[in-house]
Amino acid sequence: MMLSSSSSFFLNSKKPLNLPIKPRKTPILYQNAPQQPPRKKPNMDGTTKYRRRSSYGTSRKSILKKSFNQEQVNFTAPLPDDPLVAIIGGGMSGLLCALSLEKRGFRSTVFDTGVHGLGGRMGTRLIEPHHLLFDHAAQFFTVTDPKFGQLVSGWLEKGFVREWEGTIGEIKAGGRFTTFPSSPPRYVGANGMRPLADSILHQATKVDVVRPCWISKLEPFNGKWYLSENGKPRGEFDAIVIAHNGKCANRLLSTSGLPLIAKQMKSLNLSSIWALMAAFEEPLPTPIPFGGAFVKGVYSVSWMANNTEKFLGSENKGPHCWTFFSSAAYAKRNKVPQENIPNVTAERVKAGMLEGVEIALGQPIGSIQKPFYSRVQLWGAALPTNTPGIPCIFDPFGRAGICGDWLLGSSIESAALSGIALGDQIADYFQNGKDCPDEFAIGLEKEFQPLEGHDIGQFPGLESEPSTKESPAYQLAA
Ligand SMILES: Cc1cc2nc3c(=O)[nH]c(=O)nc-3n(C[C@H](O)[C@H](O)[C@H](O)COP(=O)(O)OP(=O)(O)OC[C@H]3O[C@@H](n4cnc5c(N)ncnc54)[C@H](O)[C@@H]3O)c2cc1C
Repeated sequence: MMLSSSSSFFLNSKKPLNLPIKPRKTPILYQNAPQQPPRKKPNMDGTTKYRRRSSYGTSRKSILKKSFNQEQVNFTAPLPDDPLVAIIGGGMSGLLCALSLEKRGFRSTVFDTGVHGLGGRMGTRLIEPHHLLFDHAAQFFTVTDPKFGQLVSGWLEKGFVREWEGTIGEIKAGGRFTTFPSSPPRYVGANGMRPLADSILHQATKVDVVRPCWISKLEPFNGKWYLSENGKPRGEFDAIVIAHNGKCANRLLSTSGLPLIAKQMKSLNLSSIWALMAAFEEPLPTPIPFGGAFVKGVYSVSWMANNTEKFLGSENKGPHCWTFFSSAAYAKRNKVPQENIPNVTAERVKAGMLEGVEIALGQPIGSIQKPFYSRVQLWGAALPTNTPGIPCIFDPFGRAGICGDWLLGSSIESAALSGIALGDQIADYFQNGKDCPDEFAIGLEKEFQPLEGHDIGQFPGLESEPSTKESPAYQLAA
């Protein structure tokens, strides 16, 4: 249901309110009411005890209930001349949304949780004192869209990215390696994916970046969106962009007054992937020297990449840093809370994945040298497995949009195109949406379709078959 009012914003109220400028301590929004103390439940013996409640109403059921029952926000305040947009998420999509708004003359603030830098799933880790460098999420990307191509050319000129000329291919269990053709070109961050993310806004004058910051609440009020981080105000904005997904986004949207957007976000399914970063004293016994390989027919490993080759070239003699990714099926079976991985799980996953590497390389189990450094990480919300196949979602009544890889696919390119599209959509809306805002609605009811690709995403232009369960090695490692 959509409600509107003669005041700039009101929700779930029968008559217009005389609204104060700042949000009240006790917000008028029913969905933002302060949390009640735990309810007392009578016991059989007549005493009472506190019923345990999940913290912050975070269960899937409670989020769903809140998401679908909330009423639609309707901003009716005149469109401001110089709007400020909040972008929650500083991955590729959020950064390019900010850049696209900047190019159209609009201001934005990007909020990101990253402690070490921006980038989200463009993650790079530097381990001292050995100076071990790992890209531990996105590995490389391809380009098919001219708009994205133009951006990448600029990054090439500035030295933010370069072509990865190392050998990339497919390795089948037992060590059978097939090299992919060198076209289309593969691009990598010159010093890793995260430094690329940190460079994208280097010339922006209309973008503020706030990190590390975890936006925990969005409150529409009096014609503005008010953002806060665990009770600490983080500013007021004329429009918001959700440039992240998964549980966190569902929680944020569950009480925001954006039921259509919340529903679309809830329709998204995500896989999980374990990453194992491992540094070896000696080179691994690969069939031929290669930079990266999609692994086929091995249950616990779907990708292996030689970061030392990628960053320092094949001649480098130093420690050999590898990134291994599990298959989505293996991660599903070994899923734990990603913020709190039990040691026993970490050890089991590490052993299982190293065994998978041996199977892939056709080496006897237990024969490969032990890494002198290793670390596992679970990407709990790694990659989308379905998509609405639309560049972005925008709700002009709630002045809110979503961008992210999942709207178009599962790659850096799709994240970039989604961010650019949403930035343009919001700019168009603020420029021309005064009289007929509904014309700027996009993607609010688009249905989802399954998404094909590798376990670690899509690489437009690079063709390869997905893993099959029929392979004997897959069965062996399972
Ligand atoms: C293991 C793995 C391997 C991959 N390999 C490749 C590859 O080789 N090539 C390729 O093209 N793609 C690859 N991908 C996919 C690619 O990384 C993603 O498609 C792309 O980076 C997604 O960008 P995004 O902006 O949509 O989201 P994200 O990168 O996830 O960015 C979202 C950001 O929002 C932040 N955030 C979340 N909640 C909040 C909040 N409440 N407040 C503030 N900030 C918040 C997050 O911390 C994050 O920084 C891989 C992904 C994974 C997981």
